[in-house]
Amino acid sequence: MSLERTEFGRPVAIVTGAARGIGRSISVTLASEGYDLVLVDLDEPYETSEEVEDAGGKAVSVVGDVALVDTALRALSACLEGFGRVDGLVNNAGISCIRRAEETSLEDWERVLAVNLTGPFLMCREVGREMLRRGDGSIVNIASVAGILGISERVAYNASKHGLVGLTRTLAAEWGGRGVRVNAVCPGWVKTGMDERDQLTAGYTDADIESRVPMGRFARPEDVAQAVAFLLDIKRSGFINGVCLPVDGGWHGDGSWDS
Ligand code: NAD
Repeated sequence: MSLERTEFGRPVAIVTGAARGIGRSISVTLASEGYDLVLVDLDEPYETSEEVEDAGGKAVSVVGDVALVDTALRALSACLEGFGRVDGLVNNAGISCIRRAEETSLEDWERVLAVNLTGPFLMCREVGREMLRRGDGSIVNIASVAGILGISERVAYNASKHGLVGLTRTLAAEWGGRGVRVNAVCPGWVKTGMDERDQLTAGYTDADIESRVPMGRFARPEDVAQAVAFLLDIKRSGFINGVCLPVDGGWHGDGSWDS
């Protein structure tokens, strides 16, 4: 999408998992760059809506589960009815599951795959059709370093994020020639509610994590949001398609992480 096109109206993006954490930061960053937003989440994103409006954007919310196709259809309708167009899609909603492979239930496996992989597929398919119709659009999927590395005790999560990287590359190949770019961002550890729950389950202290990240700190939600804003904007990343960009302080390149 191009911010140059604001003469035809502000650019519009759909962000999933927008109520808190990384999705909230992405939404506020995009609003500050001139976007109006459709905020999708299981929970009503009251605080994000307020912050988006404070940052100068308009926000419409859609409460729903991204694993259901109905949520993708409602998000697209809300976008077209509310703003008349869709330029960007950020598939950020996700859940984690820290468990040894042999102790991972089929129920855990299916739910993680449904939210982290089927959800982005459905959102990409439904919103992508509209972008292809117009021949213009940009999609960013929030994968993870777990989509690059095989980190122990996360079999369902890793498989879902590796799948999301595969989805990203495939759509980039299929749609790049038709005006729709598809990229992924792969965060390392980010201080959010998900991270706090995972640290408790895995028994990692902040110092354990910081000592293993070459740059010595957690990613901030804003670090991820800036990468997303860059990849959505055709002026800054117009020839970038199918990349999976780590935002992890160098963790993915450091072979010393043994979980
Ligand atoms: P979070 O748990 O803090 O927030 C996730 C948001 O997604 C919540 O608002 C939640 O309600 C929403 N959500 C969850 N399941 C949903 C569903 N089925 N439908 C709609 N909304 C749903 O998590 P976060 O840390 O902000 O994670 C955001 C994304 O970043 C996830 O895809 C996650 O896998 C990825 N990620 C996080 C980290 C980290 O360390 N926090 C690292 C790498 C990647």
